[in-house]
Amino acid sequence: MRIAGQRGESDLATVYIAELEDGELIEFVESVQPPVPQSEKWVLIVSTLKGCPVNCPICDAGTSYSGKLSFGEILGQIDHMVRNRYSDGRVPVSKFKIQFARMGDPAFNPAVLDVLQELPLVYDAPGLLPSISTIAPRGCDDFWENLTDIKNRLYTDGRFQMQFSIHTSAENSRRDLVPCTTWSFAEMSGWGEGFFSCGDRKISLNFAAVKGYPVDPAVIADLFSPEYFMVKLTPVNPTISSRSSGLLGVIDPDYPETAEELVNGFRNAGFDTILSIGETRENRIGSNCGMYVGRLSSIREGKVPQRHVVR
Ligand code: SF4
Repeated sequence: MRIAGQRGESDLATVYIAELEDGELIEFVESVQPPVPQSEKWVLIVSTLKGCPVNCPICDAGTSYSGKLSFGEILGQIDHMVRNRYSDGRVPVSKFKIQFARMGDPAFNPAVLDVLQELPLVYDAPGLLPSISTIAPRGCDDFWENLTDIKNRLYTDGRFQMQFSIHTSAENSRRDLVPCTTWSFAEMSGWGEGFFSCGDRKISLNFAAVKGYPVDPAVIADLFSPEYFMVKLTPVNPTISSRSSGLLGVIDPDYPETAEELVNGFRNAGFDTILSIGETRENRIGSNCGMYVGRLSSIREGKVPQRHVVR
C-alpha cells in the first residue's frame, strides 16, 4: 500500500489516498472534533472494500467496486495513522475511535472481524472504541454471529459502537436509498436485542433524512426498543452522488433548527437522540464517505467541475 496523496487541515480532518498493489485507490481519514483536544478524542475512519457494490445514491463510495480489502490492507490504514503519531503503538487517547465506515459496508468483509480481534494485540490503547456502521445487508449471517462473539470477548463495558444506517422509516422506500437486499427492520431489531449486553452502548439508528422519504418516530418506536437503541440524526453529505441524484437533506447543517421536529419526535418516543452535524469545513476537505477517491477518479476521467478539483 502506497500513500498516493493526502489532504486536510490537521486541526479537523486529514483524508489519505492509498494505492494498493493492484493499482486500486482507497481512502481513509483521521479527524478530531474541535474544541475537544486530540488527546481526548481521535477518530480514524477506514475503508473495508475497494469501492462498494451497493451504490447508495447518497454516497460516492459505490460508484465502482472491485473487491474486498485484505486483513493487511485494513490494518495498514490504521497503522499508517497510528504510527505517524505514536510510533511505539501506545495510543494515550481517552476516546480512540476506529470507524469501519469509509468505503464499503463492513459486513461484506470477514477480514474486518480479524482486524477487530487483532487491534487489542497490536496497540496499547486503553481508549480503543471500534465502531461498525452498516446497512445490514442480507446474507452475512456469519459476520453478525462472529461480531457478537468478538464484542462480548474483547469490547465489553461500552467499548464498542454499533450503528445501522436506516435513513427512512418506510421500509419499501428504503430500497431507493439503499439499493440492496437487507435485513428487515424487525430482523435488525431482533438481532440488536441479542447483541446488546448489560453495560454496552446502545445501538445507533442513523437517519440521514432525505426530503420525500418519511421518518416517523412512532413507526420506529413500534419496531425498535429505546432500551437497546438510540437515534442519530445527520445531514445528507454533499457528495457528487447525492447531488447528481437530486436528493435533498431534511437537515440543513447551517440551520440546526431544521432538525428540531425530528429530534423532538424521537425524544418524545423515548429514544436517546443525538443531532450530529459536524463541521461544514469537512465537506471542503472531502472527509465524508468516498468523496475524495470519487473526486480523484472523476478528475482522472475529466468529469469534475473545477470547484471539485483537489489541490
Ligand atoms: S453508504 Fe455504505 S453501503 Fe451505501 S454505497 Fe456507501 S459504503 Fe456502500
